[in-house]
Amino acid sequence: MLAGRAFSQNPLLQKWQGQYGGIPPFDKVKVTNFKPALEAAMAESLADINKITANKQSATFENTIAAMERSGQTLDRVNTIYGIWSSSMSSDDFQPVETEMAPKLAALQDKITQNAKLFQRIAAVYNSPAKKKLTAEQQRLTWLYHTNFVRAGAKLNAASKKRLSDINQQMAGLFTRFNQNLLADESLFMELKNEADLDGLTQSVKDAAAAAATGKNLKGSWLIKNTRSSIDPFLTYSNRRDLREKAFYMFINRGDNGDKNDNNAIITDILALRAERAKLLGYATHAHWRLEDAMAKTPERAMQLMESVWPAAVARVTEEVADMQAIANKENARITIAPWDYRYYAEKVRKAKYDLDQNEVKPYLQLEKMREGMFWVAGELFGFNFSPITDVPVYQPDVRVWKVTDKQTGKHIGLWYFDPYAREGKQSGAWMNAYRNQQRVTTDITTIVSNNSNFLKTNPGEPVLISWDDARTLFHEFGHALHGLSSNVTYPILSGTNVARDYVEFPSQILERWLSTPEVLQKFALHYKTGEPIPQQLVDRINSTGTFNQGFSTVEAISSALVDMKMHLAGSKKIDPDAFEKETLKELGMPKEIVMRHRTPQFGHVFSGDGYSAGYYSYLWSDVLSADAYQAFTEAGGPYDKAVAARLTKYIFSVGNTIDQADAYKKFRGHDPKTDALMKYRGFPVKVEKKMKGVSR
Ligand SMILES: [Zn+2]
Repeated sequence: MLAGRAFSQNPLLQKWQGQYGGIPPFDKVKVTNFKPALEAAMAESLADINKITANKQSATFENTIAAMERSGQTLDRVNTIYGIWSSSMSSDDFQPVETEMAPKLAALQDKITQNAKLFQRIAAVYNSPAKKKLTAEQQRLTWLYHTNFVRAGAKLNAASKKRLSDINQQMAGLFTRFNQNLLADESLFMELKNEADLDGLTQSVKDAAAAAATGKNLKGSWLIKNTRSSIDPFLTYSNRRDLREKAFYMFINRGDNGDKNDNNAIITDILALRAERAKLLGYATHAHWRLEDAMAKTPERAMQLMESVWPAAVARVTEEVADMQAIANKENARITIAPWDYRYYAEKVRKAKYDLDQNEVKPYLQLEKMREGMFWVAGELFGFNFSPITDVPVYQPDVRVWKVTDKQTGKHIGLWYFDPYAREGKQSGAWMNAYRNQQRVTTDITTIVSNNSNFLKTNPGEPVLISWDDARTLFHEFGHALHGLSSNVTYPILSGTNVARDYVEFPSQILERWLSTPEVLQKFALHYKTGEPIPQQLVDRINSTGTFNQGFSTVEAISSALVDMKMHLAGSKKIDPDAFEKETLKELGMPKEIVMRHRTPQFGHVFSGDGYSAGYYSYLWSDVLSADAYQAFTEAGGPYDKAVAARLTKYIFSVGNTIDQADAYKKFRGHDPKTDALMKYRGFPVKVEKKMKGVSR
């Protein structure tokens, strides 16, 4: 263990100081701080656990379960900042630290869950008749600890425990390598050398490509980065079919190029280790283990939902492709629609069929105005007020912070950090990060969350204009943030977004639906030059395209989810990812014009951690909930109905994992979720017998 002086000199080990209940010391962090801080904090965590197990008194809720909730606080804080560096500041000097520390952190987790004395105490509380006298939240917490420990192997014999820990450490190393390989391939780019290569691109795509080239000292050319936020617009607008094909393959082959960044062998190893671990733990497959504590409970139920939606989605793709082919034929393009044509011709269909050009919408979608729109929605639904603050340090100059208070009482709710722009060392996509969970087990601790995205930064003074899809993603991530900010529980492990994997996307997906409410559009979708609100007839046209291209987006998502699930249902069969993917898609009847949204070698959800493994179906599952729940608002008179909003806070956003999620949903909605609303919103035929089975308990 570190001596006191070293402890006091490492800023990461300090309690978070300052106002708002303490704030992360981003201004003091150096990469060299991470390793010693993690090591000292891990030692402190183990010391906390030893204190609990050394207690001579028999186990009680207070001296064991609540004590666990109070343990490891330094490690929580260090880990939070370490996680931010891993996802958003992954520099060349940080990556070796991560490579070294990831297996050590996994080993610590096992040391705790495999501690026999600790598990005995947890089991004693769990099995004690005194448990009945605890509050409902305390009983659920006790159940959760017991369940988590058993699921992590607390009941195994010594040899199996040892093997389990080896597996987890090996996997932690593989996850890190997978992620670093992906990051390396996403830093590749396609260079465009002359104006002809830019044919069809919008000014904003050109500007971003020029800025990217300047950043790489290639001034005078244009770079299309190998990330979704650069590739998707290129595939949508480039008139150069040859370059679209080139960009498409660069993107879908991330992690699959047979070079030093190739992820295939890593995936084979991860799948084998997961299968072995599931067996050790007494489950048929990794999928069975993962789904047990999800809302779906079994892989079969998740599969049933996916398979019930799949045929309608594939049928829709056939129609979408026919529409696109007709346009290509009319233009005399003499092509057959290929995957690199999909976004390009979909855009043409959108114009022809709905008279809607995405570029017509974009001038009304200013990033900062959309953010204000989200704040306004949070005020209407949750009673939150957001005001900007500059008195807290940030890890990067682009990051900004707001404090969140109760509109009525002025009470402090939490902090919201916003990191909107793409940069090197930051993973692609968009996500929410909980820096600190609300709880009151020690003192009253308030939430700190962040939203992160990869918008392309413009010149100072120029507004960042975003697409409709990006605006929806912005609202989505903000939904996760509001879930964290609304939390009102006692124990941190039950707090905020710490809910079942297939439930956690429900609060975020439902929030997306407020983007298209007239209130938001009229107040916040303002033209960046004139300040005029978006015209109603344009809104009508946007709304008329609500089900447009749903075949494409549903198929690209469900195919990814099905491949994920089937890989984790295959048991100990050795898997060659490329071959498995190909075969599975063939069996499914995957339309040849579409690829998986995340091909296996770049499927970070599934292979850069255990998080969404056998869990990508969660987005569809949660969307069933969000569609059905939004109906509660429409049935009651509108999206801003106060009574339904209050129920949404009470049963969904504030309760975290303090109650069973299926029960919580039923309390909010009055009945179990049905798939009808999802099918309707996606424009698929609703069949009565396709109701979602098995979500009620
Ligand atoms: Zn999400």
